[in-house]
Amino acid sequence: ADPVRATRHARRVREEAIGAAAERFYAEPPQIERGWGALLIDTQGRAYVDLVNNVTAIGHAHPVFADRIARQLHLLNTNSRFLYDAFAEFTARLVAHSPDPSLDTVIPVNSGSEAVDLALTLARVATGRRDVIAVRESYHGWTSAADAVSTSAFDNPHAADSRPDWVHLVDAPNAYRGRHRGPDAGAAYAREVADLARSLADEGRPAGAFICEPVLGNAGGVIPPAGYLTAVADAVRAHGGLVIADEVQVGYGRLGSSFWGSTMQGLVPDIVSVAKAAGNAYPLGAVITRREIVDALAREGTFFSSAGGTPASAVAGSAILDIIDAEGLQQNAARVGGIIAEEVRALMPRHPLIGAVHGTGLYLGIELVRDRETLEPAREEATRVCDLLLGHGFIVQAASERQNVLKVKPPLVLTEVDARRFVAALDAVLGALRD
Ligand code: PMP
Repeated sequence: ADPVRATRHARRVREEAIGAAAERFYAEPPQIERGWGALLIDTQGRAYVDLVNNVTAIGHAHPVFADRIARQLHLLNTNSRFLYDAFAEFTARLVAHSPDPSLDTVIPVNSGSEAVDLALTLARVATGRRDVIAVRESYHGWTSAADAVSTSAFDNPHAADSRPDWVHLVDAPNAYRGRHRGPDAGAAYAREVADLARSLADEGRPAGAFICEPVLGNAGGVIPPAGYLTAVADAVRAHGGLVIADEVQVGYGRLGSSFWGSTMQGLVPDIVSVAKAAGNAYPLGAVITRREIVDALAREGTFFSSAGGTPASAVAGSAILDIIDAEGLQQNAARVGGIIAEEVRALMPRHPLIGAVHGTGLYLGIELVRDRETLEPAREEATRVCDLLLGHGFIVQAASERQNVLKVKPPLVLTEVDARRFVAALDAVLGALRD
């Protein structure tokens, strides 16, 4: 069979099967057949370095991961109505990695959207309050409740006008291009949350929760300014609300210096949502919280998710935590991510298009601007850079509300050699674009 024709055919079949609303990232997406580490290999034998896959944290086709799941599938996989060692082991392993000893209870689900949805339910039943404060430019999932707190206008152009009345928005704490910049930005953004929390309380509808990504993944890997999250947590808790840290994208060792975005910033959340890396593309997410918060749910009824925490997904979850620890992947994220950030910053004098390098570890956002004063987003240039990088064998995608931030969030096994090759390719592509 002709692989080029086969790829064209696969593209047509995909479009016919899933319709136009499914997100598409390339005009001519490659047809990927296999993976290895941070590499993806297409049907024509071409290898790409995958710099966007924050789901497959331990890398593609990890043999230990595949073997452990396969062994469990040969034994048993069914819904979670019974007692399984695998379930007990995974929840205990995740509690052992929990951001804080107070967060001692885990409920497995199937995805990030479900984890966020359950986190919102838990906050509501534990506080008896419906109102939630969410951050602009965020994405938290597609289920009704997760969608209600997803505020990114890029993902949903009607996000602002279709919001239910229990969701209240605050600005994204972006000290690079937001309303507040400079050393006092953290306090200024936190004041906005404190003012809102107070006025909601004055209206007799105090917030039950504040939800935020501890590093603003959807906004392009922007780290909130120092002191923001802890000040916000104090303000929300002063009125009896809980803090939900959505660690679906940025948690699980990706940030390098810390396993969790919240602890990196000195925040102990009340509820944490995880997914993506938690299952390495096997459908697994979880909520980590305090026992008393889950007990509040038990008073309302029971919680059941047919495939949440099945033996196979629990084995997958434990295997991932074992591999992250055994292979030192958090440390690799710190080291290799540090090299990329440093080397890309070193390109800045030569390439005025690079406005900033956000993030840390292997969650980086290279923000492209047409002018470093006005910060005019270089959206078309970002798309072009991604297309050209594909030609060099690097898969990178533009993100954020303005689609001008190149996100670097590869499998945590990315090697230093591939990292340096990526920076060299970016240098070449930016040079070609300029000339
Ligand atoms: N929260 C965050 C921060 C996310 O990035 C995502 C997915 N992009 C979700 C939740 C939803 O996760 P899922 O796609 O697994 O439902």
